[in-house]
Amino acid sequence: QDALAFLKQQIRTVPDWPEPGVQFRDITPLLSNPRAFRVLIDQFVHRYFDQQPTAVAGLDARGFIIGSVLAYELNIGFVPIRKKGKLPFTTVEETYELEYGNATVEMHTDAVKTGDRVVLIDDLIATGGTMMAGKRLLERLGATVIEGAAIVDLPELGGSKRLRDSGLPLFTLVDFE
Ligand code: 5GP
Repeated sequence: QDALAFLKQQIRTVPDWPEPGVQFRDITPLLSNPRAFRVLIDQFVHRYFDQQPTAVAGLDARGFIIGSVLAYELNIGFVPIRKKGKLPFTTVEETYELEYGNATVEMHTDAVKTGDRVVLIDDLIATGGTMMAGKRLLERLGATVIEGAAIVDLPELGGSKRLRDSGLPLFTLVDFE
């Protein structure tokens, strides 16, 4: 069976969560099934092994789960990009717009440096706002984001197109309408 079809089957759709009308794509079954988790991580390892990134940056919070395992497998460091107020040392921050209100993400100023080649990873791309904010943080510190990676893309929301149009290559495994 095709690996990507197998992965897609493991993603659970929860209707009307966190609010009416939203179909939440829940990746926790992918993590709890050991074969699915391995197939998932292997997709990213194979994608990036030859590209020699110097770090993986993961977006809070599901990007931490897959990003840290990927970094471990690639023998490189992991950098968390966190929601505001969680990181103890000096930070840089980026604020971006949500459907209602806005959100701020932060990264430690010494997390990456000029010349670093970073894979930026999250579980899912919707409007693309979160990944765009992460890309800006990494670039402000002088790093190059070699690619944005996610398990799921929701192409109808236009986020992946916006990210690609801004010059960020993307690698995603599964689409949902
Ligand atoms: P964006 O910033 O692209 O609009 O939203 C993506 C962010 O929201 C990601 O950090 C992702 O974890 C979260 N997110 C939004 N919708 C979903 C969903 O249906 N499933 C999951 N797993 N995450 C979502």
